[in-house]
Amino acid sequence: MRKREREITDIQEIHSILDNCKILHLGLSDDGQPYVVPLNFGYIFENGILVFYLHGANEGYKYEVIRKNPRVSFAMECDAIPFEGKVACQYGMSYRSIMGTGKAEIITDTEEKQLGMSILMKSQTGKDFTFNEKLVSIVNVIKITVDNFSAKKRPLPEENCRNI
Ligand SMILES: Cc1cc2nc3c(=O)[nH]c(=O)nc-3n(C[C@H](O)[C@H](O)[C@H](O)COP(=O)(O)OP(=O)(O)OC[C@H]3O[C@@H](n4cnc5c(N)ncnc54)[C@H](O)[C@@H]3O)c2cc1C
Repeated sequence: MRKREREITDIQEIHSILDNCKILHLGLSDDGQPYVVPLNFGYIFENGILVFYLHGANEGYKYEVIRKNPRVSFAMECDAIPFEGKVACQYGMSYRSIMGTGKAEIITDTEEKQLGMSILMKSQTGKDFTFNEKLVSIVNVIKITVDNFSAKKRPLPEENCRNI
């Protein structure tokens, strides 16, 4: 990361970003043609290992690409707040973000699909939901095992620095 002072390594703050971001931009590569698709997600982050669960309809282009090439990248951001200045180059946006790479699999095991859906709903709503076999049969669940990620924060400038 070029601006090292913006890198986040604190585990609690990484959890906070994962909790606050609700949309993951999933990057796929279809024979070299990039494809980015926004999706809601759930996550587990334990012992330094980050796993995402995503879901969707039973069919769609993203699954075709994952089946051909399971290598993925992702990005998410939260707390994006624009700030102003006197001149154009003083305008900007605060944010917290995470991006990385990993391997995607389309889960076929019913119990893992149920677990993935519960994790997704917990991350999205903060509530506990359970899913029966019938409910998970009508969705696809994607698991992303992350192999590399970084987290970054751009804070809002101090009030008295904004108009310098
Ligand atoms: C904030 C947000 C959250 C979402 N959450 C989910 C989720 O949790 N699960 C889920 O399955 N979907 C979600 N979607 C919709 C998702 O982005 C895709 O539209 C959907 O998953 C279908 O993707 P697919 O690759 O299967 O495309 P297909 O339905 O197979 O269509 C392929 C083509 O449709 C077009 N297309 C697909 N998606 C979009 C899009 N979002 N915008 C414009 N054009 C598009 C592209 O040209 C693409 O090549 C979300 C979208 C947004 C904006």
